[in-house]
Amino acid sequence: MRWHLIFLGAPGSGKGTQATYFAQECQYEHISTGDLLRGEITRNTQVGIKVKNILDGGNLVDDATVLELLDAHCDLSSKAYIFDGFPRTLEQAKLLDEVILKENPFKAIYFETDLADLADRLVNRRSCVDCGSIYNLASRVPEKEGICDECGGELNQREDDNRETVENRFKIFQETMGPILSYYESRKVLVRIDATAGVDSVRSGIRKILDGES
Ligand code: AMP
Repeated sequence: MRWHLIFLGAPGSGKGTQATYFAQECQYEHISTGDLLRGEITRNTQVGIKVKNILDGGNLVDDATVLELLDAHCDLSSKAYIFDGFPRTLEQAKLLDEVILKENPFKAIYFETDLADLADRLVNRRSCVDCGSIYNLASRVPEKEGICDECGGELNQREDDNRETVENRFKIFQETMGPILSYYESRKVLVRIDATAGVDSVRSGIRKILDGES
């Protein structure tokens, strides 16, 4: 049975970019709780209405709501998953084990970065509304302004990628990630990866981890 992968790291550490790549190339199912929540907001569902202000402020949605959403979108019996943006609290890590992963094998990969460099990356981030490709107005500029090179879709900026909200997201990250890392470390499933290296070298680092599976 293939490992499920849990991608852990600060906002903007590159988890989403790598998850998109491994989903396309290695047939993982990429599940991002941030995307699920934003989808609820876009569709104006009851959950969406409840969580909109929480996301806009960069705060965490309650564990039960996120777990319920995640559980409704997972089918571990037939697919290997990359979990992106979950867990965000120690309680969520335990719930992920007990309710979703159960006896399934998994690895937690921590994208280590320097927070000082990330704020600019987030504020300059743009993504394609159609295919999800991620750009950066400082380092990965689209050929035509506001248009995705891959599919011609429109590029937009996430509402929570503004300076003030980004700072709050980092603060919460710093308060919550330590206990999650200790939890996975004690279970001997944690692998750390240098996420300050370029996209290609992070990708090869993840491939090496996956090679350990066979
Ligand atoms: P992300 O796309 O992972 O950066 O998440 C965007 C926002 O969605 C976060 O700032 C939180 O408001 C919310 N969110 C995403 N995942 C979770 C989670 N596992 N628990 C609580 N809130 C979450």
